[in-house]
Amino acid sequence: MGDDLKAILIRRIRAEGPMTLADYMATCLLHPQFGYYATRDPFGQSGDFITAPEISQMFGELVGLALAQSWIDQGSPSPFTLAEVGPGRGTLMADILRATKAVAGFHAAARIYLVEASETLKTVQAKTLNTANVSWVADVSSLPDAPLWLVANEFFDALPIRQFHRSESGWRERLVHVTENDDLGFGLATATDFADLAHRLDDTVVGDVVETCAPARGIISSIGQRINAFGGGALIIDYGDWHSLGDTFQAVRSHQPRDPFETPGLADLTAHVDFEALALAVPCAYSRVTPQGVFLERLGIVVRAQALAANLSGDGLENHVTAFQRLTHADEMGTLFKVMALYPHGAKPLAGVGV
Ligand code: SAH
Repeated sequence: MGDDLKAILIRRIRAEGPMTLADYMATCLLHPQFGYYATRDPFGQSGDFITAPEISQMFGELVGLALAQSWIDQGSPSPFTLAEVGPGRGTLMADILRATKAVAGFHAAARIYLVEASETLKTVQAKTLNTANVSWVADVSSLPDAPLWLVANEFFDALPIRQFHRSESGWRERLVHVTENDDLGFGLATATDFADLAHRLDDTVVGDVVETCAPARGIISSIGQRINAFGGGALIIDYGDWHSLGDTFQAVRSHQPRDPFETPGLADLTAHVDFEALALAVPCAYSRVTPQGVFLERLGIVVRAQALAANLSGDGLENHVTAFQRLTHADEMGTLFKVMALYPHGAKPLAGVGV
């Protein structure tokens, strides 16, 4: 199957010339027949990678309570949109809904929306959530004009990026070429001025690579506009940092890093999230970028972990302790993953983030 997509890409490049990395990523991830997310459920031990909600129910529970607290802080508006972008298996939303059952009025007021591009994963989400009260949309711009509480976990890292190499003569885009051995590989376009990159001349030197993610800017700005206009809050959780520099494009298959051109459509392709670029694209207020470990500890993960541990023993207890460490420890997801919250100017920031 990977060979089929590779053949399609090679034919396309031969016919149309080298393609941007963004085109390559988008095709590999979302090609309707051979795309990574279109053909599989990649999560979990037996899949290619494991995400925080799949590691432990505690992650979604605490995220759910932070969203519900923010909804209460803003006067419990009804109805409101409870949305997730890139919901994977639907585990995070299921944990959010279970944890918020006891929050008076929250479920009655919530209109649940999942923003998902993959038909395969929509089917998985429908099974996990097993409720009629869910709508799917393909794009955040189709969300209702209403107060919006939203979560995105490991969504923005899947959006297509472009890469630019700073040369003596200007920015040279890294493009995907067909190599002499009929393989796929990187080449450099001729130097051009990119208006988008003018501000990166100050913090880069010749030889540096910078990345841009135009779809991320469009999506976050649409979310931020809704929060600004109607109220609400968002938690954006992903790996990356406030300011991105360098080549962060990576392929992962069966939990191992791979050559991103080896098996198009069969490996997950991601890039680190540039949170500064997201913050610059929203009209609403945004928090500081807070490490996931700190965020979860502020929300009370230690107490929640102890409560769950009280009913566990043997392997169950051991797995639970390992999961807690994976989510919070600095050597695991605790520091690499960051959380940024969006909220209306003048409103109380969401719990757990620094401001
Ligand atoms: N949030 C989940 C899954 C993260 S994987 C978790 O934490 O487990 C990325 C998710 O984003 C998948 O559901 C994928 O199908 C979806 N996705 C990727 N690109 C998308 C796009 N452009 N629009 C909507 N969904 C997208």
